[in-house]
Amino acid sequence: MTDDAAAAPICLALPLPGPGDDRTGGCAAARAVNGRPLHAAALKFFWGPMDCGKSTMALQMNYNHARQGRRGLVTTRIDRSLGPQVTTRIGLAHSAVEVTDQLDLRDLVRDAWAEGVRVDYLICDEASFYDLAHIEQMADLVDNFDVDVYAFGLATDFRSCLFPAAQRLFELADEVARIQVEVLCWCGREGRLNARVVEGRVVREGEQVVIGDTVDSADVRYQVLCRRHYRSGDLGPRA
Ligand SMILES: [Zn+2]
Repeated sequence: MTDDAAAAPICLALPLPGPGDDRTGGCAAARAVNGRPLHAAALKFFWGPMDCGKSTMALQMNYNHARQGRRGLVTTRIDRSLGPQVTTRIGLAHSAVEVTDQLDLRDLVRDAWAEGVRVDYLICDEASFYDLAHIEQMADLVDNFDVDVYAFGLATDFRSCLFPAAQRLFELADEVARIQVEVLCWCGREGRLNARVVEGRVVREGEQVVIGDTVDSADVRYQVLCRRHYRSGDLGPRA
């Protein structure tokens, strides 16, 4: 591979349905075109480094929408609790649907509707760990089911490269927002990148997803660093 090829953006688009494929399956949107105007659902991606409060914001958004009488579902994948719930570093928790490889987010909504449970929106936490197919399903839910999808996740992995699902969200989302709670590097600069730390050293190679924590005692831990110290691998005076 040449350097030019390595630098070229990777296309992550999955094949789209042809003219004969009905992906809407009698959903709300199909009824909407017969009368009720669509409310213009949106796919929004909120991103930031570890510890910036993504899960807290996800639960706050769920609370805000529920308070206005809207009904939603919360999904997650590889939450730090390793259970089917969204947990936050500041102590909030909420039950959630675990997103597996087999789960189709559209079926999740259809099944809820079949049971008479309204679904106006999805809150998708840890979305950078979802499969590319899940991101396409999010777009489908917005466009054909009139369901809002709010995705939260990391943009980049420990190598500072985009997670495939995050890349696809950047490409497809109606709105992309960096979460504004600043995480500081040990030097006081803004923390931007998630360093993986094994035995006290920043590692640059390995599996894209390895469960770890941000506490100092973990075997594999993550530390948010500014770009300068991420690139130099300097973990600061405490390391
Ligand atoms: Zn720094």
